[in-house]
Amino acid sequence: MSYKGLPEVVTRRRRSFWESAYFVEICKGLFVTGRHLVRNLLHTGEMPTVQYPEKRREYGPRFRGRHRLMKRADGSPRCVACMMCSTVCPADCITIVAGEHPDPAIEKFPKTFTIDLLRCVYCGLCEEACPCDAIRMDTGIYEIAADNRESFVVDKEFLLDNDKDGTL
Ligand code: SF4
Ligand code: SF4
Repeated sequence: MSYKGLPEVVTRRRRSFWESAYFVEICKGLFVTGRHLVRNLLHTGEMPTVQYPEKRREYGPRFRGRHRLMKRADGSPRCVACMMCSTVCPADCITIVAGEHPDPAIEKFPKTFTIDLLRCVYCGLCEEACPCDAIRMDTGIYEIAADNRESFVVDKEFLLDNDKDGTL
């Protein structure tokens, strides 16, 4: 949209005869493809692709992988079921059921804590909103595979088990 909401008129460039014939353009495309092929064959060590899954690409420390729930020293979840993460989540994919904690110093704990990984957009807002550093996305796990929809809804026990690989 242009200034003052008036639609902008775009003048289309007329194609030349050789562009319309496509022959030259196809040859140009084949030349570029061939140039990459030869370069990759001569410099295999510099190829941008990796031989996955034998090789895995290194991601930066800020990469947001699958979530994990942090534990207290006694192994219980650090989460106090404040619902900050589920409130801020734009995908509405965190479901928490809070319970009264037996320790009077801790008000609540999550009786259940589930994340629907198929709805999650990996924005990291849950991690940022948490006042207890109870949820993190620093596992680096990006291979998240399963053959049924239900397996992508991960529960509290799964999220507390930080050693799991990408298999759900
Ligand atoms: S990463 Fe974003 S979308 Fe995923 S659970 Fe956290 S807040 Fe929700
Ligand atoms: S924001 Fe943190 S403490 Fe609050 S419910 Fe979520 S994970 Fe638990």
